[in-house]
Amino acid sequence: MRMTVLASGSKGNSTVVATADTRILVDAGLSCRELRKRMAAAGEDPCALSAILITHEHQDHVAGLATMARRLRIPVYFTEPTHRAWVRMVTPRSTMTYAEWLAHVQREKELRAAQTAASECTTPHSQESVILSEVVPPSGTAQSKDPEGVHAASGDRTVLPEVKTTVTLNAAASDPDEDEIAETEPEAAKPDPSFLPAVQYFSAGAPFTIGDIAVTPFTIPHDAADPCGFVFESRTENIRMAVATDLGYVPPNVKAALRRMDVILLESNHDLEMLRDGPYPWSVKQRVLSRVGHLSNHAAAEFLSRDYDGGAQYIVLGHLSEQNNAPELAMMSAEQAVGNRMSLLGNRILLARQDAPLAPISL
Ligand SMILES: [Zn+2]
Ligand SMILES: [Zn+2]
Repeated sequence: MRMTVLASGSKGNSTVVATADTRILVDAGLSCRELRKRMAAAGEDPCALSAILITHEHQDHVAGLATMARRLRIPVYFTEPTHRAWVRMVTPRSTMTYAEWLAHVQREKELRAAQTAASECTTPHSQESVILSEVVPPSGTAQSKDPEGVHAASGDRTVLPEVKTTVTLNAAASDPDEDEIAETEPEAAKPDPSFLPAVQYFSAGAPFTIGDIAVTPFTIPHDAADPCGFVFESRTENIRMAVATDLGYVPPNVKAALRRMDVILLESNHDLEMLRDGPYPWSVKQRVLSRVGHLSNHAAAEFLSRDYDGGAQYIVLGHLSEQNNAPELAMMSAEQAVGNRMSLLGNRILLARQDAPLAPISL
């Protein structure tokens, strides 16, 4: 079994987890061309990929997803909320004036009321649409529906530009169901940006298999729709590898999931002092530091010294911030935490890179 980290960091994340029979691309956060280039450089054949597995919908994890899946004609595994969030994200937005927006909201209300009257059955979906129509402020965007404003402050997300007299509305935000979009938009002959050759849903906590790899997704605390980390297990080789990046802290379920690993890709995003004194606006600093932000060197070290069972051959530190971290700091912090358990056979610490793939880790 092997793990090849193709890229790790806020400009793009992607990792190949493979056995002799099965090859899974975990996230596709670089362009299709760059992913293929890096795979070739690392000795991985893109055409041999079995599936793409998505941790969450932030751009640095899905940038090349649609192109990659379509070119290779392989299935994409999401949780359902992550898939919906991704569909909303990639569906083109239309810009309208305030008056048009008001008329649109009114039409939508009337349509929903008529639909509800016509059929007794109200789906959660249409309820959501009505609520959305009512709460979206004229100067806001259909995506900014997080009351805490965490999403709007997200460094990973595309925050839509605000224009004083116009409203930017995601055409699909109030209704991400593809069938309905096709019905209501006659120009749907245009290529659908959310089209994928095949979509498979999974749920956190429910193991499933892709080829001969058993995958166990676990929930991670992060400001996305339904973010997950993964444990991969090769049944034939009895080897276990985990991917755990993009998490604000290490909750008990993640500590439990990361037991008995041979390889762990663990986030070590920022140095607390560098982040505090760094150039990010206060709102972004708050978001990174929050319980649904990113794991600091300190928090990663705390996990490694207190909770980690010490059994992995490799610990790969990933998602390092280029602004708020230094590779030496992340490395030093993890080395100190692992301490005397570090040896030639176990607990070797590697740094995943943003700009180049890491050599495959083969066990
Ligand atoms: Zn990320
Ligand atoms: Zn993220």
